[in-house]
Amino acid sequence: MLSVEERPSPPVIAGHLQVRMKAAALNHLDIWVREGLPGGSLPLVPGSDGAGIVTAVGESAGPLAVGDEIVVQPCTWCGVCEACTSGRENYCPSFGILGEDSAGLLQDVVNLLPANAYKKPSGLAWAEAASFGLVFLTAYEMLVQRAGLRAGETVLVLAGSSGIGAAAIQIAAERGARVIATASSPEKAEFAKSMGAHETVDHYRPDWHREVLKLAGSSKIQVVVEHVGAATWQQSLRVLGLGGRIVFCGATTGPEVALDLRHLFRKQQSVLGSTMGSSKSFAAVVEKFEQNRYRPIVDKVFPLTEISAAHRYLEQGPRGGKVVLSME
Ligand SMILES: [Zn+2]
Repeated sequence: MLSVEERPSPPVIAGHLQVRMKAAALNHLDIWVREGLPGGSLPLVPGSDGAGIVTAVGESAGPLAVGDEIVVQPCTWCGVCEACTSGRENYCPSFGILGEDSAGLLQDVVNLLPANAYKKPSGLAWAEAASFGLVFLTAYEMLVQRAGLRAGETVLVLAGSSGIGAAAIQIAAERGARVIATASSPEKAEFAKSMGAHETVDHYRPDWHREVLKLAGSSKIQVVVEHVGAATWQQSLRVLGLGGRIVFCGATTGPEVALDLRHLFRKQQSVLGSTMGSSKSFAAVVEKFEQNRYRPIVDKVFPLTEISAAHRYLEQGPRGGKVVLSME
């Protein structure tokens, strides 16, 4: 159940920035948190993506200053372990996500660690700035850090109109890859193309992987961006070429799949799990937005007081892009 409550503003804390939130975006994670994740504890303020203005700076919480406009980096980590000190924070044993493991951003005033606040790309409106964090971070880590995508390779992005899909299409295309995306309707195919997909295929057709193979040519697909799981796994394997990588960040249709190990070693293929991303990846994404190399995708903006309607809209499957809550 969701409720909007009045609470006193939190005090300014040493080592933290106090931020007046302007907008926050929903992710599917927000629905899972609302329904109750295993091990999760409720009540909890949800929200992993957001943007706002720094209104106070606690002791030794620089270098950002009062008045700076920021976007929120959604991950938390210990900061002292080997993973954290070597810039691989998403391998930290204490890794977490704002709005899942700790209080999130759907509140007017939040206290954030400096590691969670980055200067807002200057060309973006509040809703746009709030919308990209989690999905672009996840897709960037998958394609660049895990799969090592190179220019000239051919990428298959499953469910290209989803948030992760739209981000993956943009990131792959910007790196000079050829992008084939799957989409389940002509409108979603159009959306995937507007994100930069060179070709689209309808994944509800039973033989859709043959179309992918025809489009990809003899070297097949080098990188498959998977987050669908059981429903698409066999086709994802079939389209994968020599040295190909399947990189996945979720398994929404089921987590158990069959794998013929002979194919993997003979074709030197890799299956790569990935979750969220490092601070380096987040900084790279923010920089690309600053340079107008990526563009945010806002589907619909609701006022914060209509959060229940926003959740229902997200559950019904938006046409493409992010659902944002405005706190202005
Ligand atoms: Zn750590």
